[in-house]
Amino acid sequence: TKAGRAADDLLKVRKEKLVRNLSISYKTPMKIVRGEGVHLIDDRGRAYLDCYNNVAQLGHANPEIVEVLARQAALLNTNTRYLHDNIIAYAEKLTATLPKNLTVAGFVCSGSEANDLALRLARNYTQAQGTVALDWAYHGHLSSLIEISPYKYKRKGGKGRPATTGEAMLPDAYRAPADWPKAEIAARYAASVTTAIDQLAQAGHKPAAFIAESLPSSAGQIVLPQGYLKAAYAAARKAGAVIIADEVQIGFGRVGSHMWAFDSHDAVPDIVTMGKPIGNGHPMAAMVTTREIADAFFNGMEYFNTFGGNPVSCAVGLKVLEILERDRLLANATRLGQSLIARMSKLMDRHDRIGDVRGQGLMLGIELVEDRMTKVPATDYAGRIVEKCRQLGVLLGTDGPHDNVIKMRPGMIFTDTNADFLMQVLETAFAEVA
Ligand code: PMP
Repeated sequence: TKAGRAADDLLKVRKEKLVRNLSISYKTPMKIVRGEGVHLIDDRGRAYLDCYNNVAQLGHANPEIVEVLARQAALLNTNTRYLHDNIIAYAEKLTATLPKNLTVAGFVCSGSEANDLALRLARNYTQAQGTVALDWAYHGHLSSLIEISPYKYKRKGGKGRPATTGEAMLPDAYRAPADWPKAEIAARYAASVTTAIDQLAQAGHKPAAFIAESLPSSAGQIVLPQGYLKAAYAAARKAGAVIIADEVQIGFGRVGSHMWAFDSHDAVPDIVTMGKPIGNGHPMAAMVTTREIADAFFNGMEYFNTFGGNPVSCAVGLKVLEILERDRLLANATRLGQSLIARMSKLMDRHDRIGDVRGQGLMLGIELVEDRMTKVPATDYAGRIVEKCRQLGVLLGTDGPHDNVIKMRPGMIFTDTNADFLMQVLETAFAEVA
C-alpha cells in the first residue's frame, strides 16, 4: 500500500535483513516518509524540525536541486571517460572557492572515498606510510580510515591504534589540562603533533599525512583554539607530512565566516576532502589538491571511479554552490549561529549541568556534565534531553567520546522562526528533564 509497512514491522525485518551494525536513532525509532525544507515528516504526518542533518543544507527535497538532478538524469548519466561540460564547470567553480594553490580536483562518491584518495596521494607524494590524526577523530568507514580513526579503533569492536598511526591530542579548550596557562593552550596542543610524529618514528614510520577536521565533530563539536591549526600544520610539515583538511562534515560554509573552516584559522592545507552537504543529499564527494601532489600521483596507473564526477552529480554540485552564494547562506549561518550560541549560553545560568556551549556558524554543541568542577560527562542526561526534544518536535543528536555533547547542525536555510522554536524546545527540555 501507499502507506508502506508499519514502523515495528520495518524494525523487525531490518534486524533480519540488514547488517546489524547499523544504528538507529531514538528509543522508539521514527519512520520518516517525507522531507520538506528544514522539516522531516513521519508516517503519522507529524513534522519535526531537523536540527541534525547537515547534509540537506539547502533543505530536504529542495525543489531546485531535484529539478536539476532530474533534468540531467533524463538527458545523460555516464562516466568520466567522455568529455562533458558539467565536470569541467564544477571543477572550476569548486576550486575557485579554495586557496590559490588548491587547483586540481578528484571526484568520488563518499567522504570516505575522498579521504582514502587523499591518503593515497599523500603516501605517494611522500613515499611514507604513517598518518597523524587527532584523538577521537572519525574519517570514514573504509579499512584505510578505520585505521586512522581513534573514534572507531579505540572503541568497542576496534583493534586499537595501528603502528602506522600517530595520535595527536584533541585540541579541546574546555578539557585542557588545568595547569596549562590559557594563552598557551593552542601551542601546547599543537606540540602534541610532534609527539605523535615521534610515536610513529619509534615504530619505524615517517608521517605521510597529518589529517584533521577543521572543527572536529564526532569528537564533540570542538572549536579549535585560534593559532592551533597553523601551528599544527607547521609541525607536521616540518616532519615532511602532507596536510589533509577533512572538511567532509564542516565544509561548504557551515562555519559562516568562510566557505572552508580552515580558512577561519588562516591555515592552508595541501589536500581538502569534502562530502556530506556537497550534493544536498545526492551521494557525491571530492578531493582537491595542489598541482604538484596531483602530478606526482600521475604515475601511469589509471584512476577510475565508476560514479565519481558523473554529469548528474556535477550538475547537482554546481547548483548547490550557486544557491549557497545567491541566497547568501553563509551570512545567514553566521548571524543565526551567533544568536543561538548567545541564547544557549544563557541557559547555563539556570542549568548547572550545562558545562559548555560552543560552535562556529551553524555547527553547535552543548556539553553536559554532572558537575562543572569535575566535568564528569553526563551521558545519560544528554540522551534524555535529546529524547525529550524529539517528543517536543526537534531532532538533535549526541556525540563526543562520551556521547555527552548535544550536537546541532541545522540546515543553512534555517530561519529566525526555526531558531526560536529550537530555543523554546531546548528550554522546555532542560526545565522538564531531571
Ligand atoms: N570525514 C568526516 C569528518 C565525517 O564526518 C564523515 C562522515 N560522518 C566521513 C569523513 C565519511 O564520509 P562518508 O560517510 O560519506 O563516507
